[in-house]
Amino acid sequence: MSTSPSRPTVTLIPGDGIGPECVNAAVDIIAAVGVDIDWDERHAGERVFEAGIASGVPDDTIDSINRTRVVLKGPLGTPVGYGEKSANVTLRKLFETYANIRPVRELPGVTTRYSGSGIDLVVVRENVEDLYAGIEHMQTPGVAQCLKLISRKGCDKIVRLAFEFARSEGRRSVACATKANIMKLTEGEMKRTFERIAPEYPEIEAWHVIIDNCAHQLVKKPEQFDVIVTTNMNGDIISDLTSALVGGLGFAPSANLGSDVAIFEAVHGSAPKYAGRNVINPTAVVLSAVMMLKHLGEFEAAETVEHAVLSTLQQGHLTGDVVGYDRGVSTSEYTKAIIANLGNRVDGYTVRRVNPIQIPPAPKDPVTVRPTSREIVGTDIFVETGHFPEQLGPVLERLADGTPLRLKMISNRGTKVYPDGNRNIDVVDQYRCRFVRRDDATPLELNMIRDLLALIEAEYPWCHIELLQLFDGQPSYTKAQGED
Ligand code: NAP
Repeated sequence: MSTSPSRPTVTLIPGDGIGPECVNAAVDIIAAVGVDIDWDERHAGERVFEAGIASGVPDDTIDSINRTRVVLKGPLGTPVGYGEKSANVTLRKLFETYANIRPVRELPGVTTRYSGSGIDLVVVRENVEDLYAGIEHMQTPGVAQCLKLISRKGCDKIVRLAFEFARSEGRRSVACATKANIMKLTEGEMKRTFERIAPEYPEIEAWHVIIDNCAHQLVKKPEQFDVIVTTNMNGDIISDLTSALVGGLGFAPSANLGSDVAIFEAVHGSAPKYAGRNVINPTAVVLSAVMMLKHLGEFEAAETVEHAVLSTLQQGHLTGDVVGYDRGVSTSEYTKAIIANLGNRVDGYTVRRVNPIQIPPAPKDPVTVRPTSREIVGTDIFVETGHFPEQLGPVLERLADGTPLRLKMISNRGTKVYPDGNRNIDVVDQYRCRFVRRDDATPLELNMIRDLLALIEAEYPWCHIELLQLFDGQPSYTKAQGED
């Protein structure tokens, strides 16, 4: 049944826990459908951490992926006590797989409270930026900070990919789900980018939804969604929610796509308590393999496997996660049933005929936005102190006296506490002290801010500093709650 002239090589990572059982099922089904793949088996995850490789991903695995550019993988565990970072996140970042595509659809034979509603939607999650950049610091012994980094370039790439994906699958709408109403610069960048790019795809309906309402609408009326594009953490959360709409994590496949590398894996983890028991549901990895077959251009084989999975479920071959572990078929029986169903079709269920996705070429230039003017108008200096605002404020005013900067206000966790601050705030020992130029006609220079910092650090340790700039006359910063 294979249509591809050359035999593709794919890196195969069996993974941890239930991973090898799921991956073996997919490999057996692909062999049975007649696609001849040269599997390059490599490892990552638990055993690699235990062998002392801190990243959980050894060099030979990285070399293999650099050669093959396509990976089918089982879930990877991070054993307690090893590794600072998850091997999964390391793989996604190493190969800049910036898009995580997570489709779910209503499945025949898998009864849920949404059965009959016709759910068939895809979450397109940005995969490398946002809070998951993992840049965290304790600003004081009692105040933690995680940087939420969102770039115009990152938004551009994920939004274009979402529209290209929708186009390749003939989908009718793309919703952009953000928290732009609160995080106007970070989440707002995704919304603005979406609104800028959407007109390039006039055949696709484009709409914005606030992420919390998106979660609400997904539970209330999931069939209204087609493609949802969103930032990393939003996508992580709503894609677990969407998997539950169609029967749970056992049915949720995913693809991590970058410009050069594609990694196919289930949404679920290694579920260690079921490892080696031949009871788990391999569908999520099998459907991830279907996505991989499409990526390899094996559209006919992909369609055949998808129909065989649907037939198997419709015939009532259901694993323990669906019908209870005392009644469910084993993983190997389920796999055999899918193989026996290759060539069968399910009445009333069509599988999407897809065109190859055009992954937009990513610009290599690190600079994507070049304002014609920029100007420093102040600085936010974050200091650590056990003082209350009414003690801290006058000291800072005195320190700034005679400098080109004046204290405009102090906030605590985003709310103004000085001057005339909110008295109800239960302050903590990290304050953001906003200084602005005294004279709008005098440009500020970095050395003026350094001089102010030197004066302040003689009294209070600083833990963070930001410039307040205007790009093309527009502020590059937001105001505190209560700031005028
Ligand atoms: P998990 O492995 O996804 O398992 C959570 C629960 O989901 C299981 O206990 C089980 O539910 C159900 N489940 C998941 N996959 C299933 C399947 N194929 N068949 C049947 N039931 C399935 O999540 P976790 O327990 O939070 O994480 C375990 C390890 O996996 C951790 O080390 C985590 O870091 C890692 N992880 C890896 C990935 C990845 O590699 N991409 C993703 C997520 C987590 P019941 O208990 O209700 O039966």
